[in-house]
Amino acid sequence: MILQTPIMRICISCKKTYDRKHLIKITKDHEQGIMLQKGMGRSAYICKSKKCYSDSKILKKLQKALKTSLGPEFVDIFEKEITSYDDYPNKGI
Ligand SMILES: [Zn+2]
Repeated sequence: MILQTPIMRICISCKKTYDRKHLIKITKDHEQGIMLQKGMGRSAYICKSKKCYSDSKILKKLQKALKTSLGPEFVDIFEKEITSYDDYPNKGI
């Protein structure tokens, strides 16, 4: 059995550190634009707590972190993506 060290990342909203697998990665891909959980480029992480992803300032925080502009429709896509996971430890918080 191989013990893996968890890769820790900081949620841009609550600034708490989580194992990367509990976070949603948003990447500004060089070729394909904004991608969730994949892509190569500047990335930001948001934890899966409702408090964070439904934060009214989340779009601003993301734009700042990714140095790009995002349309309001992105929040819908993002929220759908997050709520499609049910493995998260802090669901419903
Ligand atoms: Zn958070």
